[in-house]
Amino acid sequence: MSDNIKKIAVLTSGGDSPGMNAAIRSVVRTCAYHNVECVAVYRGYQGMIEGDFKPMNARSVNNIINRGGTILKSARSNDFRTPEGRKKAYEHLKEQGIDAFVVIGGDGSFTGAMIFSEEFGFPVMGIPGTIDNDIYGTSFTLGYDTALNTVVEAIDKIRDTAISHNRLFFVEVMGRDAGHIALNTGVGAGAEEILIPEENLGLERLLESLERSRLSGKSSSIVVVAEGDKIGKSVFELKEYVEQNHPDYDVRVTVLGHIQRGGRPTCFDRVLASRMGVKAVESLIEGKSNYMVGFTEDKIMLTPLEKAVKGKSEIDRELLRVSDIMTT
Ligand code: ATP
Repeated sequence: MSDNIKKIAVLTSGGDSPGMNAAIRSVVRTCAYHNVECVAVYRGYQGMIEGDFKPMNARSVNNIINRGGTILKSARSNDFRTPEGRKKAYEHLKEQGIDAFVVIGGDGSFTGAMIFSEEFGFPVMGIPGTIDNDIYGTSFTLGYDTALNTVVEAIDKIRDTAISHNRLFFVEVMGRDAGHIALNTGVGAGAEEILIPEENLGLERLLESLERSRLSGKSSSIVVVAEGDKIGKSVFELKEYVEQNHPDYDVRVTVLGHIQRGGRPTCFDRVLASRMGVKAVESLIEGKSNYMVGFTEDKIMLTPLEKAVKGKSEIDRELLRVSDIMTT
């Protein structure tokens, strides 16, 4: 244990995700457990630049484990991208006697933390909070499991209508660069096809596949489409294309959008957040810095921030095969 870390700040940055509050709670309580002072930074890096701080104790985080979003608010800060902005942030941290910070966010937030740590020799630790699950060094990011459950519940409801009217539904889910949400919810909700950024199914194959399932007796279908699907067409363009080529199809589109980000975190995300918060604080106390806490092969592990930012999180190829078999 190092005696150098007596006061730790915690902030949420980038897009919010369910489980961030549980992670804040864990960081605050782990600090209290180890008699380390804890300070909350509001509005991400922008709040750090403007000195928007609040002292926290174990009771400051009562009744938040079950809440979505982030009680600390999140923000995207252009000022933090500049050396002047980061210098202001550093001065505020020093004024407050803060020795290290834990940032809960995505790869942009980690890049900011890395640059800051290099410039000022300041200890930092990252916790991956994003629903997209697109961060290297962890099999699960905070909020991903909750988002999967939200999407599957929505698709189950859409299916009721699809069946009742013999319709084809394109459901767009989040995932500009990664198809984790689309692939897992597609399998979990029994979709006919799943379009993801990592694989180009091609328009012809999509039509063939829909036709095949129609001939095999299916009268309704769900196609799950990630925002950044490789075919490169929006769900509305896909609808038009299918209708032009198959005028007999009754096609509808649902864009799930921000409902995927909100809501009560699942038990899995709450437990993950609790474990990650403990590891982040204890690693800082041990004198470690510049790592992201991840969860891989049933273990909480540290990955250097640089690797987490540069590495690519791969789609589960075996699950792709499972999805192909399931649509037989
Ligand atoms: P999400 O996955 O939800 O997009 P994120 O953490 O990747 O989350 P970003 O908006 O990319 O979200 O980054 C959050 C903040 O981190 C930015 O608003 C900025 O303040 C800081 N940041 C990102 N990239 C850099 C950088 N290259 N230099 C300094 N700060 C950065």
